[in-house]
Amino acid sequence: GSEPRQLHIFLFPFMAHGHMIPFVDMSKLFVSRGVKITIVTTPLNSISISKSLQNFASKIELIVLKFPAAEVGLPDTCENADSLPSPDYITKFFQASTLLQAPFEQALLQSRPDCLVADMFFPWTNDLAAKIGIPRLIFHGTGAFSLCASDFMRLHKPEKNVSSETEPFLIPYLPGDIKITKMKLPSNVREDTETEFSKFFNKVKESESNCYGVVVNSFYELETEYVDCYRDVLRRKAWPIGPLSLCNNGAREIAQRGKESTIDEHECLKWLDSQKPNSVVYVCFGSLARFNSAQLKEIAIGLEASEKSFIWVVRKVNGEDKEEDQNWLPEGFEQRMEGKGLIIRGWAPQVLILNHPAVGGFVTHCGWNSTLEGVAAGVPMVTWPVSAEQFYNEILVTEVLKTGVAVGVQKWVPGVGDFIGGEAVEKAIRRVMEDEEGGEMRNRAAENAEKAKKAVGNDGSSYRNLDALIEELKSLAF
Ligand code: UDP
Repeated sequence: GSEPRQLHIFLFPFMAHGHMIPFVDMSKLFVSRGVKITIVTTPLNSISISKSLQNFASKIELIVLKFPAAEVGLPDTCENADSLPSPDYITKFFQASTLLQAPFEQALLQSRPDCLVADMFFPWTNDLAAKIGIPRLIFHGTGAFSLCASDFMRLHKPEKNVSSETEPFLIPYLPGDIKITKMKLPSNVREDTETEFSKFFNKVKESESNCYGVVVNSFYELETEYVDCYRDVLRRKAWPIGPLSLCNNGAREIAQRGKESTIDEHECLKWLDSQKPNSVVYVCFGSLARFNSAQLKEIAIGLEASEKSFIWVVRKVNGEDKEEDQNWLPEGFEQRMEGKGLIIRGWAPQVLILNHPAVGGFVTHCGWNSTLEGVAAGVPMVTWPVSAEQFYNEILVTEVLKTGVAVGVQKWVPGVGDFIGGEAVEKAIRRVMEDEEGGEMRNRAAENAEKAKKAVGNDGSSYRNLDALIEELKSLAF
């Protein structure tokens, strides 16, 4: 007899590390369940994706489309959101990615896959999938809580009943009586005026309502109420199949997530080995957020005052004057912190670090990958949202899961983030690392980490959701 037909899925991640990393994990997961995977991306990103695929590289096809950066006035080498000359260029970057439409259609027509899982930032893929008669699934890279919250906020904008910027109000229809302030909302929800960005975002949200369904990097036990709400109230087909970071078992693979580390992983782990359990704070704000010198200095002051050992991943805004560039650390900081702290000026092996027993706290910008990696590692968090849906993720961690403490960010400030003083940093770190309160958060975090492992394990909820998704796609295709 002939071989049984293999389901073939196209994966199309947006060109930013926070999006490509979970897509790479997802590709491995699908392949390990017998699905044929093609990843579509651009030349420079294909290099880092190939590296992250590791021993899956030979099993996964890559289709490489030229990125039209120059056509919209971006530098030629700019193919990833982390290499924009400044955050203001993001609209241009979206424009360029929209120009991928024609070559992407060509690729679809040539390969004729059975299904397309495309990033939220490619809303136009709905129509292309419809054209060749296959389902388009959407991947946002965020969890069910923020998917629900952002949808309810978009459908019921706050202007009508809330006048104050700072007065907390209930997010309508969201289970759990969750409050937020207007200052923490994205501009497309907060303001009535249309911008290029808000128009684009509305298309993104429309494509979410019209697509076949949603693949979610989360697990049912973590966000039960919100997965149910997303399915039953917002009426979306949704498959939580995560945490996707847990499908990398080999340490080498974890270290290679996204980019090659700029620190010797063995040195880093050896240093952690020399530290007591739960004694080290890991500080990292993801792949995109950058702080100015004044803010970095306050973080340094807070870390030192907390008296904790730390690993701090530093990313600085471009273009600050050169002299200040060199001198933003408090006088003598590096000498005093020798042996006590590790500063990484580049890419850290985050998942390796988070899972080391010495790490007892995570200061995070609440990007969803980082948040879920922290959950999967069982580490309590200090939440420090900067932009996007990070403000919703903060609420999930501090109020719903109760495994973290807010550092006190009051508003979304595009570019550099809200300013936080050193004392607030110290206080939040101490609350997470010390005391009974910290201990309770640590216990809850450990329970969630257990649940996460169960969810992706044999016959866990995420495992079964993935089976169900594959079966449904097969029944549509064959
Ligand atoms: N990451 C990493 N090393 C770094 C910074 C980030 O490995 O130095 C990884 C991190 O583990 C996560 C991703 O990059 O998987 C960042 O995604 P997230 O959603 O947290 O934030 P974003 O970068 O999209 O703001």
